[in-house]
Amino acid sequence: MEIRLQGVEKVFGRGARTVRAVRALDLVIPSGEFVTLVGPSGCGKTTTLRMIAGLERPTAGRIFFGDRDVTDWEPRDRNVAMVFQNYALYPHMNVFRNLAYGLRVRRTAPEVIDRQVQDTARVLEIGSYLDRKPRELSGGQRQRVALGRAIVRNPAVFLMDEPLSNLDAKLRLTTRAELKRLHLELRTTTVYVTHDQLEAMTMSDRVAVMHDGVLQQYDGPAVLYERPVNTFVAGFIGSPPMNFLPATVERSQTGMALQVAGVTVALPDPLRRALDQRAERRQVVLGVRPEHLRFQSPQVAGVLPARVFVVEPVGAETYVDLLVNGHRVVARVDADTAVSVDDKVGLVVDLRRIHLFDGETGQAIR
Ligand code: ATP
Repeated sequence: MEIRLQGVEKVFGRGARTVRAVRALDLVIPSGEFVTLVGPSGCGKTTTLRMIAGLERPTAGRIFFGDRDVTDWEPRDRNVAMVFQNYALYPHMNVFRNLAYGLRVRRTAPEVIDRQVQDTARVLEIGSYLDRKPRELSGGQRQRVALGRAIVRNPAVFLMDEPLSNLDAKLRLTTRAELKRLHLELRTTTVYVTHDQLEAMTMSDRVAVMHDGVLQQYDGPAVLYERPVNTFVAGFIGSPPMNFLPATVERSQTGMALQVAGVTVALPDPLRRALDQRAERRQVVLGVRPEHLRFQSPQVAGVLPARVFVVEPVGAETYVDLLVNGHRVVARVDADTAVSVDDKVGLVVDLRRIHLFDGETGQAIR
């Protein structure tokens, strides 16, 4: 089922206490896709999900399921199933009855209930504990039963709000993979809310990055990573995050170049052409991902002078925190790189992979 949001707004409160939780949101969630709404706390992602569910009425704009305008429909008429962070299972019912409950309420025939519960249990691999009570299950198993309750009804749309956030870190990883696998099997249109960019990146066909109620970018994970539209998206997607350094545009013999930390950096062609149309001495922000930095001797010409602040080994690789002209920068290097605190190093930037942003608006320069 395709979901379409058209100019959707949500305003809470009145007068001085007004909160514009969601502003002028246009979003198309293609049928069968897994789409994630991601952003920091308060950005409006839960409100958006609740409007899709029908639990919240938009202040303005329309919501379509396929070609039907559902804006004024009750939640129960929308054929959506929700999974929340706090999955409330019925404690006195075993797993089978927990799964069957929603179907019973709808007066589904017992043999149909039996088949749908068994099918769901097979998909979720919970078939071997259908007669256990929730208290006899681990947190991960309980969360699978909660998912099962959503799946068993075979809804047109799944809406999930941080369903993994109550699980411990390891279980979160395995359940994340299982959810993704499940989506590949069922292909039910899914809208997923999280503040965790890694969850968004790993599971989704498309990710909508929100900030202060405003959609910043809506793209596939690879595009978000490689072509962020502004400094907010660039800094939010990726871990450790993208490094930002203030820079000035200068004219050099070969066209426009950048002054960064007292060093002149030549630019690759497309960026140089983009900057040729801009005023000289203009302030920009240079964005570099941690994996696009390398170490050199500080004596080599053209390298950025840096001092090592801390070294953080994480196993397969090492994050090196550096100070460049008073700015903190993180480099992601091989675990066997010889580097110690207070070393003076030269940083080499992979110029083909840099990002430039307007110094005032933060918009990407391309
Ligand atoms: P979180 O990750 O913390 O849940 P979120 O991105 O999901 O954040 P929302 O819950 O959608 O954010 O909230 C967006 C804004 O709207 C916030 O400023 C919040 O305080 C406000 N808000 C949400 N619900 C209400 C409400 N019922 N009444 C008043 N303000 C609300």
